Amino acid sequence: MGVSFPTESTVVLFPQGVGECEARIVLAEPAGDDGALLVATDRTPFHPIDHTWPDQPGDRGTATVRETEHTVVDAITMAVGPDGSVHRGEAIPARRTDPGWAFLVGHVVEMAADTPPAALVGNAVTLKVDTARRASLSAAHTGAHLMSLALNMELRDLWRKSPRVDCLGHPDFDQLAITTSRMSPGQSVDRYRLGKSLRKAGLEVAVFLERIDSVQEAVTARLAEWIAAGGCSVIETEGPGLTARRWWTCELPAGRARIPCGGTHLGGLGELSSLDVRFEAGERELVVYTTAKQA
Ligand SMILES: [Zn+2]
Repeated sequence: MGVSFPTESTVVLFPQGVGECEARIVLAEPAGDDGALLVATDRTPFHPIDHTWPDQPGDRGTATVRETEHTVVDAITMAVGPDGSVHRGEAIPARRTDPGWAFLVGHVVEMAADTPPAALVGNAVTLKVDTARRASLSAAHTGAHLMSLALNMELRDLWRKSPRVDCLGHPDFDQLAITTSRMSPGQSVDRYRLGKSLRKAGLEVAVFLERIDSVQEAVTARLAEWIAAGGCSVIETEGPGLTARRWWTCELPAGRARIPCGGTHLGGLGELSSLDVRFEAGERELVVYTTAKQA
């Protein structure tokens, strides 16, 4: 007898911008007490929220099984251990590279409670992402990456030491200081620490705070220049599975950007009409609100 639980990670199609596909159900179990089911498939166009860096929320859409369409209200990351144990989100105890583990996209599907989850395994399903919501999340995510590169660039003269540089060759304030990044349709909110560790790393924090309005203006102007150039953007991937490493790449006037990223993105900056950046700064923290308008 073969194993009765999934041993392969879900093949993901969102890096190619796919919004719909046919798939086969490999795992189904109650999502909670509210009747919804958690359904994993051999492949999917759905982007799940990441369990270690939950910046971009899971996709929503529909799942059609035996000609009945059900609403997918969320997509999360799941993992199945070598012993068949199933784990969800933050409770996943393994690393992506651990042998014997399969990482799955769990679709939270609203389904009648009279469907025994086990009976669904093996069934065909048509998965469709809400592509308008996806596009506004992609715009927010692309905006967050562009903002971080423009911010690094405008802070380049405020370092007393030479920290690690970003893909454009500027000191990587974003990587050193970011604490959380949270996207919603059309907006990203990124929080950066400005305390002692940043001063130690060599950033002239006091000078930055004095000039904060002009830095915000310079970042906004830089983003407008990059959008006007309309560079192409591609997700590079090492493989088809959810656990494969992926990078967002984008052609910018300042060079080719390349950032490790598990999220979804616009196909090019021509799909943006504007990025509006607003700083909220205190002694210890900078909060950046980046609002993306699609063309
Ligand atoms: Zn990203």
